[in-house]
Amino acid sequence: MRIGAHVDPAEPLAEADARGADLVQFFLTDPQAWTDPKDRADAEALRSSEVDVYIHAPYRINVASSNNRIRIPSRKLLFSHAQGAAKVGAKGLIVHGGHVEKADGLAAGFDNWRKTFAYAAEQGGFATPVLIENTAGGDNACARRFDSLARLWDAVGDYEVGFCLDTCHAHAGGEALLDIVDRVKAITGRIDLIHANNSRDGFDSGRDRHDNLTAGEIDPELIVAVIRAAGAPALVETPGGTEGQGADITYLRERLA
Ligand SMILES: [Zn+2]
Repeated sequence: MRIGAHVDPAEPLAEADARGADLVQFFLTDPQAWTDPKDRADAEALRSSEVDVYIHAPYRINVASSNNRIRIPSRKLLFSHAQGAAKVGAKGLIVHGGHVEKADGLAAGFDNWRKTFAYAAEQGGFATPVLIENTAGGDNACARRFDSLARLWDAVGDYEVGFCLDTCHAHAGGEALLDIVDRVKAITGRIDLIHANNSRDGFDSGRDRHDNLTAGEIDPELIVAVIRAAGAPALVETPGGTEGQGADITYLRERLA
């Protein structure tokens, strides 16, 4: 089972080494900015490394939005980050499911997701597999509740779309972790990556605050069970830097051994 962490983008391979991580995830740009990625000096080292690389798309991206001035640049930014991710040999580009501004706009939100993949397909497709991640908050989210996730997959399922399951987001978003892998796979048919995080907040709180695995509100054994059932690589997006994340990785390795 391959286990890793979300790390600072400056020296991801050194960060992996410091944590004993098999995989790393990082941002190619400031996650709050509307910026296309620049070429990285360590691209060849990342491509040839035994450490698997995942890229997280900027938080600003919301391709579901009914607002043109958010949706159109989001589409373009997702496309350019997929190109940047390919240059470092990334196995996946993780992007949040996004949301619509009004509850009655969800159908349009799912259709906007479909158009995002159609737009990419016109240009030869995304350069890196896109993994849509479930989110914790909001009433009009496309991938918080799994009834919405099912409608999202009805819209995009004809394209090659991956899924990233975040355990903190599921718990805080109101989807119980028990049997969650079966429930996801019944919708998406796949889980490509697990974001293994505990939650500082209660079930269905709608809050997105990650915690270390043996802290937080979720029984950590449930997180281990999710990874085991999914049989997918997992990475922690937890606090505490090298020490905190290193302890989380060790915890998972011991439990999954
Ligand atoms: Zn996550």
